[in-house]
Amino acid sequence: MQTMEKKTLSILGATGSIGQNTLDLVRRNPADFDIVALTAFSGVELLIALAKEFKPVIATIGNEELFTVLKDGLAGTGIRCTAGEEGLLEAANEPSDMVVAAIVGAAGLRPVLTAVRRGATIALANKEYLVCAGDLMMQEVATHGATLLPVDSEHNAIFQVFDDAAENAVSRIILTASGGPFLNRSVESLGTVTPKEAVAHPNWDMGAKISVDSATMMNKGLEVIEAYHLFPVEKHQLDIVIHPQSVIHSMVEYIDGSTLAQLGCPDMRVPIASCLAWPNRMRTPAKKLNLAEIGSLDFFDVDYTKFKCLQLAKDALLAGGAAPTMLNAANEVAVAAFLDKKIGFLDISTLVETVLSKSDMKEPHSLANVFEIDTETRSLAQSYLPKA
Ligand code: NAD
Ligand code: MG
Repeated sequence: MQTMEKKTLSILGATGSIGQNTLDLVRRNPADFDIVALTAFSGVELLIALAKEFKPVIATIGNEELFTVLKDGLAGTGIRCTAGEEGLLEAANEPSDMVVAAIVGAAGLRPVLTAVRRGATIALANKEYLVCAGDLMMQEVATHGATLLPVDSEHNAIFQVFDDAAENAVSRIILTASGGPFLNRSVESLGTVTPKEAVAHPNWDMGAKISVDSATMMNKGLEVIEAYHLFPVEKHQLDIVIHPQSVIHSMVEYIDGSTLAQLGCPDMRVPIASCLAWPNRMRTPAKKLNLAEIGSLDFFDVDYTKFKCLQLAKDALLAGGAAPTMLNAANEVAVAAFLDKKIGFLDISTLVETVLSKSDMKEPHSLANVFEIDTETRSLAQSYLPKA
């Protein structure tokens, strides 16, 4: 049996789906982890409860208006409380072995960069960072000797079966996609779907934003861009296959015709545990795979006319320049507007497409540039939303 040295752990986005799954594993393995930092944006009561349970050095609430509630809630515990963006940066900078990057959207990019710059090991759940600032972020990782471990189930699968010693022998990376809740619905019927229907994913229980992205399949598009930055392959070597059961989490094909896959029940605690214990393994309560019970696994090609967001993401990757940063920002605005019932489901791809076609922004050469493009794109996207 492998033994694991005790690790110190910071969780950015502790109150979300990934954060909670991570803490579930920590709760089950108290001897293996010490929690250093816990952060949340607005779920202050949950953050207080988690801080009392896990006793971090620092607890941070993103929404500054809730700082007093946090401070009062943790009075007498000795836990340092911070708030706002500066507070998040302070939490990310607090020394720890590993940082779980589980803030949703580009909003968490600065805190993660702070952790990267102190050379931490990052268990990266958030895919938006690599989409909006992939090249620059990977440069920062290399410069500061940080380590990136992918939590996203597909990328974690690829990470497990990618032979670094034979990187030139890799012919393709094949990402699997469940197809989301609307795989078998006609495109005509999607105009009227509600946020509730869109977030009801058949296989995974996730936060609202990524659930909508899974329904539009933008999620898979973001994941293709994420894979491009994480693994040494060319853009044309990235493929997608629909696999509704989400049992094969992705595959790497080699030049000799071998294809290696990682399989497991769809439970995010499996890829999270793979990162937490890396380079070792740890037990999880995830159900073990019973293939005879599952019976058969299905695979289909993607319908790009139905899932326009996926096509837009693939085009943005090929176009390069500012396109991926803009794609991500426009999509974040569109998904938030859909969840707020300001636009319909099919308007998400229309809005992203319109924004991408209206801009002549140049490739970001610095992280400051990325933030400018992100901000400008968000206001452009907002300007196309129906006025209240
Ligand atoms: P979630 O919405 O459940 O949780 C998001 C977390 O980020 C919460 O703790 C929230 O308080 C915090 N947060 C939100 N906005 C913030 C802001 N502006 N500033 C600071 N903190 C903020 O999301 P999730 O499903 O846990 O996903 C987190 C990330 O992981 C996403 O980027 C998602 O794409 C990725 N991911 C999630 C899953 C999954 O199963 N949930 C799988 C793969 C990848
Ligand atoms: Mg995924």
